[in-house]
Amino acid sequence: MAPLPDPTCRCEARLAGSVLVVDARDCPGGADLSNAPGCRATVVTALAGQNARAIRAESGENRYGPGVVALLVAAGRFADAVADRDERLARLARLDPRGAARRATARGGPVADLAAETGLAVVADGLGGTWDPSLSVDRSGRGPRHPENSG
Ligand SMILES: [Zn+2]
Repeated sequence: MAPLPDPTCRCEARLAGSVLVVDARDCPGGADLSNAPGCRATVVTALAGQNARAIRAESGENRYGPGVVALLVAAGRFADAVADRDERLARLARLDPRGAARRATARGGPVADLAAETGLAVVADGLGGTWDPSLSVDRSGRGPRHPENSG
């Protein structure tokens, strides 16, 4: 099996309203979620149980929208769900959500079921290979959801 991606990250994340603000000043990954697996893992952990809709790096240009948030939230759910069964796959889910989704789906069985149930497989598939900040994701096939309250 290939080694897990390098998890080095010194980001500090906090929630400001519905935005997860990531202070990446001390982090070599710079909260670049498309290239820094360690920053992904930090953000996955920070998003758990939160109702964030966007991610913004405090010291840089990196911003991510609802599609990326959905991917990382699903990655956290999947990691928690699969941890008892396969700790390595749980770690991979935080570092490389798409890689974990592909691996789980290819393996089939209960692990693939968990990827489907947590939404990880669908969201990863819907996003393709992009970390486009503006992308949102249609998780259900029923079209985008509009929040009741926009304040
Ligand atoms: Zn980082």
